[in-house]
Amino acid sequence: NHFLLRISEKSNLNAFLEVFEKEAIERARQLDDARSAGAPLGKLHGVVIGLKDVISYQNHTLSASSKMLAKYTAVYNATVVDRLLKEGAIIIGRQNCDEFAMGSSSEHSAYGAVLNDADHTRVPGGSSGGSAVAVQAGLCMVSLGSDTGGSVRQPADFCGVIGLKPSYGRISRYGLIAYASTFDQIGIFSSTVPDAALVLEVIAGEDQMDSTVSQAPVEAYSQLLAPAVKADKKYKLAYFRQALEHPSLDPEIKSAITGLIERLIAQGHTVTPIEFELLDYVVPTYYVLTTAEASTNLSRYDGVKFGHQTAAECSDLTEFYKRNRSEGFGKEVKKRIMLGTFVLSAFYFDAYFAKAQQIRRLLQEKSAEIFNNFDALISPNAPCVAFKLGEKQADATEMYLADIYTVFANLVGIPGISLPLFRNNDGIPFGIQLMSDQLKELSLLTLSDQLM
Ligand code: GLN
Repeated sequence: NHFLLRISEKSNLNAFLEVFEKEAIERARQLDDARSAGAPLGKLHGVVIGLKDVISYQNHTLSASSKMLAKYTAVYNATVVDRLLKEGAIIIGRQNCDEFAMGSSSEHSAYGAVLNDADHTRVPGGSSGGSAVAVQAGLCMVSLGSDTGGSVRQPADFCGVIGLKPSYGRISRYGLIAYASTFDQIGIFSSTVPDAALVLEVIAGEDQMDSTVSQAPVEAYSQLLAPAVKADKKYKLAYFRQALEHPSLDPEIKSAITGLIERLIAQGHTVTPIEFELLDYVVPTYYVLTTAEASTNLSRYDGVKFGHQTAAECSDLTEFYKRNRSEGFGKEVKKRIMLGTFVLSAFYFDAYFAKAQQIRRLLQEKSAEIFNNFDALISPNAPCVAFKLGEKQADATEMYLADIYTVFANLVGIPGISLPLFRNNDGIPFGIQLMSDQLKELSLLTLSDQLM
């Protein structure tokens, strides 16, 4: 009842597309009855969780914030949903985001923009903006989002909450609507590091339904919940020199991170600047590869297999497909499908797609080399704090370039977390990003907990 009331008081934020009111209350009652009857409690007993509307929850609408799927009802549960429910979570609703998770501001939703609760004239970041705002504004305890190129870490940064993107393959993607399958990963928004750790422990791990999930055992991340474990370990940290010196980086963010680095050194950690000549290649590489994968993944939305069907009379099947797709998809999604189709076309394949794959390989080598020598990388999450609604709408390239600090982790498959450590002079939150080697979530979370 508390969260339902908060959601209705804060409905102007447009964080939720649908609230499962009756169902959530009924579920809470059942859980409480089970508790009274002495049944064993799940690890997430009574925890109120929201889902970005790209995660499949059986018998509920699953729209990807698109007109294309406005009438689509999920026919099965995502693996993460099954695991949450099994441990006693209450799913309270589905959350607004950029259409098909494409964007950095949550302005590309067919159901209106999401507002940042720190300042209602600003965006919450994206694409998982509704999920970040829901935790920021206390509309639920935890949200699940998805992160293909920063969509959990950047909105967490803009809203002042924790945002964890685990390693590629740590969490099953079964039941997650695909944007770019070799990049996509489900992530967690929470108010504390131990909360994120506990939810990760529940949803991570091997799954018959997704062959890309790692078979590595899930570590006991929730041991972080025991305050006695709050370690005082000394870490070997690094940062990319080019990242902190990048001309696009807001000086206030730069000085906050520089100050943090000095404090970390004073506390006995080592923090080493390392060279990263490829920094300016990460965004183009990301957009070539993800649009290519998107053009393939989104071909199923043709109005026959899935999605919106036009009401217009069509002379043949091709026209029918065209109308369905033209009416169902928004502008940003169409642009990416066309870009992806272009880079995959026979004539341009070598110039774009093949080159981008080569750069991805170089980045993976770089990442392996870094984590042979260091425990974690420190970085900004974004070059700027939450910007004004509409401010970057006119210049798509500028919006894409703002992904410069987050896409590296997805290109190489490593985990990253956004920690809300600062506020600027206008009171707008921002934080830092930490990244570690693949499947080193426990070490990443332990370090994060130490810094918070
Ligand atoms: N902002 C990035 C994009 O627009 C990231 C999206 C995501 O992680 N889903 O593609």
